[in-house]
Amino acid sequence: MELSPNRFPTGILEVCHIFRDSGFQAFVVGGSIRDLLRGENLPNDWDIATDASPPKVIELFSQFRVIPTGIQHGTVTLLFKNLSIEITTFRVEGEYKDGRRPSEVHFVKEIEEDLARRDLTINAIAYDPINQSLTDPFKGVTDLQNNILRLVGDADTRLKEDGLRLIRIFRFVSQLGFSVDQKSLDAVPRQVTVFRQVAKERIEVEFHKLMSGPFWQQAIKMMIPNNLLANYIPELFEKYMLALMESVHNDRLGITISIIESFSPESSINLRYAALFHQLSATSHPKDTFPEIDKQFLAKILRGLKFPNKRIDSILHLLTVYKIPLPYSMNDEEERRNYSLRKFLYKINPHFLDDYLSFYKAMWKELDRSGLPSVLIEDIERRRESQPPIYLKDLKIDGNEVVSHLNIKKSIPAQREFIGICLDLLREQVEVDLSNNTKYKLYQILENINQVKNLCTALKVPRVSIISTDHIRKLYRGNEPEYISWENSHTYRLSIWLVSCLLRRNKSNIVIFDGTNLNSPSHPYHREKLATKFKRYNPIFINTFSSEDDLKKNLEAREHEKPSIRKSDADITIYERYESIINRYPKSFYAPENVKIIELSTRSTEYEKRLKDLSKNLKESNHRLIIMSGNVLTGKTFTARKIQQILSTHSLKE
Ligand code: ATP
Ligand code: MG
Repeated sequence: MELSPNRFPTGILEVCHIFRDSGFQAFVVGGSIRDLLRGENLPNDWDIATDASPPKVIELFSQFRVIPTGIQHGTVTLLFKNLSIEITTFRVEGEYKDGRRPSEVHFVKEIEEDLARRDLTINAIAYDPINQSLTDPFKGVTDLQNNILRLVGDADTRLKEDGLRLIRIFRFVSQLGFSVDQKSLDAVPRQVTVFRQVAKERIEVEFHKLMSGPFWQQAIKMMIPNNLLANYIPELFEKYMLALMESVHNDRLGITISIIESFSPESSINLRYAALFHQLSATSHPKDTFPEIDKQFLAKILRGLKFPNKRIDSILHLLTVYKIPLPYSMNDEEERRNYSLRKFLYKINPHFLDDYLSFYKAMWKELDRSGLPSVLIEDIERRRESQPPIYLKDLKIDGNEVVSHLNIKKSIPAQREFIGICLDLLREQVEVDLSNNTKYKLYQILENINQVKNLCTALKVPRVSIISTDHIRKLYRGNEPEYISWENSHTYRLSIWLVSCLLRRNKSNIVIFDGTNLNSPSHPYHREKLATKFKRYNPIFINTFSSEDDLKKNLEAREHEKPSIRKSDADITIYERYESIINRYPKSFYAPENVKIIELSTRSTEYEKRLKDLSKNLKESNHRLIIMSGNVLTGKTFTARKIQQILSTHSLKE
């Protein structure tokens, strides 16, 4: 496309006139000329090259704002009639130190000399809009027409001078989709060590432009065979990492590329980054599942690369949520699906949903799973607007109303905590059922929460308290036999809080915590968490599973129970759901290290004896917490009450 003065903003023409009228030369150069020659819209950034010295430039434009951006290299930024113009005095660069910056620059008189120090031929074209003359000593226009990126002059020399040029080549590949001249491309692996010495801040600017370009996938792929990518993020490529992590897929790069390729070229920048890094920072990648990612390790690397914190946070958020499973199955009923979606969107942040779905689809395909969950995804797309997540601010009552309704004393830390717990539980109740979001209903739920709190506090004889998750679950289910999955997470929070309060409040007492019905109670991770959380109270874990025989007897006994009871038994539901996890651990019981375990089963012949032993043990020791959780089909509340009886009749520590 031809250049003519009427294709330039009047501001640029005026600036060039000012130079000419004062006896100086002025050329428009760089990206704006490139863009105009390609027939693009008016560029935002303008670069002007002149033979006027920087002090002279400042003098000529003294009525305007001139920022001395890089004055030691001859560059100032002129703010002129809504335009931001970088004005650089013609220069050649002195000796380069470490491929970073020239140690000195010399100002020169001819535009041709200035163009010779520029990186690519397509960036070394100058146009004088006053005389309407084009200066193109390196045939940049031809390269532009042929879609070729070619370094000006000798490729090795140019890359060695400034290592930033290595990445700039691929930044332009990404922005323009051009191919790279063979000689220029061949020089890249030879000069890759120079690249490592370039300041990370400078690289980050170019890399971000690279990741943002329409041909980013192509550019990233091109940076692999010449080791440029590996030299940019060496930590992710180093061999020791691979040796360390045998469970990581050994074609991490191949997977990365195939995932990147499966995205549409318009995919969000956040998704691009997350996809690039997710395999490379994986700590394990078991077959058929999404990889585990060491997010702290990745965050450290990205900080080292001078990524802005906000971008690091977004990348990490996506890598945290990307493997959360799709929220429901098509067999669920309407109301249940709506609830699951609200809950899911609350966790995932709707802002990230598109990225999440794209990533999820790509991973699903990569894992070669049959039947892409496209029906589910379409369903989510359809109802995402109508079922937005519920935030605290959406509730019809606020913290102050909770305080006054329950007469909470804000000055007491545990009571302050209780306000937060109440609000959280209310939020979840609204998530479950939108019709709960009226002042009347929310006050009712608050009453229930308070009642459970009082119930647990009342369930105590001198020095022993019982917290039973059964009681708490009733709050949610009433007397309905159906077990509802979300009960568990609600129950968990309320019960943990109650346990902490009781332990803190009654310093010499024992708290018996029947935590069977916590979410996935048999999961070792869960028990590990409990043991850590309550470490200073020396928790004892009670394992109610004594022998295969006992378990069988227990199951048989349950066969004769009323169906509604059986059905309502969360133990069974949980057992079925987590069966495979439970069975992975010997005796279906895993206990955290350094924690005391006692075996106790109501159906064991040893039951009475063991109960007495336990009580004796408690009398002599300073254990303050008994955790009964993680096993199935035994009467734990019954056991808890028994212990309570024994302990109260023998009174502790006497
Ligand atoms: P954009 O449209 O992204 O601004 P641009 O080509 O203008 O692209 P800039 O970084 O603004 O890129 O640089 C302006 C001009 O300065 C380039 O066109 C190029 O001629 C020259 N240049 C920039 N960086 C280098 C470098 N590291 N080595 C040589 N020349 C460079
Ligand atoms: Mg520019």
